[in-house]
Amino acid sequence: MKPEIHPKYQTAKVTCVCGNEFETGSVKAELRVEICSNCHPFFTGKQKFVDAGGRVDRFKKKYKIQ
Ligand SMILES: [Zn+2]
Repeated sequence: MKPEIHPKYQTAKVTCVCGNEFETGSVKAELRVEICSNCHPFFTGKQKFVDAGGRVDRFKKKYKIQ
């Protein structure tokens, strides 16, 4: 076995500004985020996102997706 070269990996408590708390693996014990899967528009307003067709078209043009 090789010696452990990575920082100690542990379960971190993540707190989002929306109040959501969840756990993730991290070298830090505590994390603060401004957006999470609970409040990100991509997840919470997926239907709204799809309805905003113009935005999708612009996105496709920008990245040349057909
Ligand atoms: Zn959040």
